[in-house]
Amino acid sequence: MPLVPMRVLLDHAAENDYGLAAFNVNNMEQIQAIMMAAEETESPVIVQASRGARKYTNDAYLRHLMLAAVELYPDIPIAMHQDHGNSPETCFSAIEQGFTSVMMDGSLDADGKTPASYEYNVKVTKQVVDEAHSRGVTVEGELGTLGGIEDGHGAGLSEEEAREHLTDPQQAEQFCADTNVDALAVAIGTSHGAYKFKQKPTGDVLVMSVIEEIHKRLPNTHLVMHGSSSVPQELQDIINAHGGEIPQTYGVPVEEIKRGIEHGVRKVNIDTDNRLAMTAAIRKVFAEDPGQYDPRKYLGPAREGMKKVCLDRMTYFGQAGNAPKVPVKTCKEMIDFYK
Ligand SMILES: [Zn+2]
Repeated sequence: MPLVPMRVLLDHAAENDYGLAAFNVNNMEQIQAIMMAAEETESPVIVQASRGARKYTNDAYLRHLMLAAVELYPDIPIAMHQDHGNSPETCFSAIEQGFTSVMMDGSLDADGKTPASYEYNVKVTKQVVDEAHSRGVTVEGELGTLGGIEDGHGAGLSEEEAREHLTDPQQAEQFCADTNVDALAVAIGTSHGAYKFKQKPTGDVLVMSVIEEIHKRLPNTHLVMHGSSSVPQELQDIINAHGGEIPQTYGVPVEEIKRGIEHGVRKVNIDTDNRLAMTAAIRKVFAEDPGQYDPRKYLGPAREGMKKVCLDRMTYFGQAGNAPKVPVKTCKEMIDFYK
């Protein structure tokens, strides 16, 4: 089947009370890891590419990797999503490349750093929704500001500062009415990157109650958790035992993500955990076999390490087993839906 609009996957997840991990892709081993895990667990798939990933792969390599996944796994529905589009132009160029879903992140100005006004956010998001929906493409918006910085995106807020930029549930209701987005990314105190929390997060730093409040007001909007890697201790330990120097850090506990899924979260962005898994595997090979110079001998284990993370999340979030059950629609069919 061709790439499917992300909305189709999110709707099925909402109707059946599960969440979908959205994994970032930059190279062949990453897409292979995701698809191997999806096949083994029969999971529908969301892959996403940041602006940095599109630049790194020159778009064309990425597009053909996606087409390879579609060709090799015809029974698995796959959505291809632009992560953190900084401007309508970025989103439109993604649609030209065949992406079936885009994020217009108007919570920041086009520089991808400066928190933007509500009016700016509505204006650019609405502009993307109008164009994307006319082509059957899904749109994710963002309200509130996350901490950290990743791939040149983010306001660089500290854990403490991020807590002051949480999504306002009342404004979220207004935002969805003003823009008609399919999905909304919310700020609940999480950060991008590996350094999310200085200690295991409690309810006043990871504010899950905001999600519960937004879901009450917007029961039909699919919520998205960004910066939701769990930063497993085990992976930090493997890296540091083999020459790495990752300062002790804490991510979003998987139990909290499950709580989110019970309250309307349908997309959970995972990137850091996969990066850590690949780095841990590569460091281990280099430490144990310093004479090794065949890239397949370390990229292979890296791929295996990432597959394990994907498999684990797919199973835990409940998307496993759902690939054959999703009523697939094409972007063309979604055009009528939006009309
Ligand atoms: Zn993000």
